[in-house]
Amino acid sequence: RKGINRLSSGSKAFDELMGGGLESQSIIEFFGEFGSGKTQICFQLAVNATRPVEEGGLNGDVFIIDTENTFRPERIVQMAVALDLDPEEVLKKIHVARAFNSHHQMLLVEKANELAHEMNVKLLIVDSLTAHFRAEYVGRGSLAERQQNLNKHMHDLLRFADLHNAVIAVTNQVSSKPDAFFGDPTRPIGGHIVGHAATYRLYLRKSKGGKRIARLIDSPNLPEAEAVITVSEEGVRD
Ligand code: ATP
Ligand code: MG
Repeated sequence: RKGINRLSSGSKAFDELMGGGLESQSIIEFFGEFGSGKTQICFQLAVNATRPVEEGGLNGDVFIIDTENTFRPERIVQMAVALDLDPEEVLKKIHVARAFNSHHQMLLVEKANELAHEMNVKLLIVDSLTAHFRAEYVGRGSLAERQQNLNKHMHDLLRFADLHNAVIAVTNQVSSKPDAFFGDPTRPIGGHIVGHAATYRLYLRKSKGGKRIARLIDSPNLPEAEAVITVSEEGVRD
């Protein structure tokens, strides 16, 4: 794969875990419990992606598919200010679309494709990848259809990544109650469909004092390992 770009997370340790930053032309899945920092990391990636390449950015625009109404511009402002960036300029480059259901969520990838031809979209975020799917397809009878649509969604995302040399970051929760099919409560939603399509899977868990532990679970070329990151008012750091 030629011309791969690397996006910094804001944490050196985390970037090293990922082999020097988050790779373009790939899907990076963050999964973990509520409050584990998935959305915060997405915000930081969005801010960083607008920065020049020399500063760990992608010098690009960002498209966020927000499925749970958790986008907070004031958090983007805080993180931008902490990096001495003009928050208005940063916000101008971050395009947020609310997805009302899983079908709409899938359509928004097409929308992002159109936008990417006019704008320089280098990071596409789907937060949360699985929440709508999980809520809409309940019961064992609908599982095959859910997995089929999730599979298509993942492939659309991967195509976007290749087409635009973009980084794709997606979030996923772990099932707190046993899923209809995946009985293990620590398993991410979507099972092997999401797992196989994601290029990198990271499991996030809370630690003491605002710290989070990120564990790289599945990677085509890197060992399974962990990094400790901090989430504070400034954003994601070592
Ligand atoms: P969910 O599964 O519910 O979407 P999540 O993994 O996306 O959860 P986040 O929203 O990323 O979780 O994390 C929320 C946590 O981030 C808060 O509990 C807090 O610890 C931290 N956090 C959020 N905003 C700030 C801030 N301004 N300053 C410091 N820490 C913050
Ligand atoms: Mg979240």
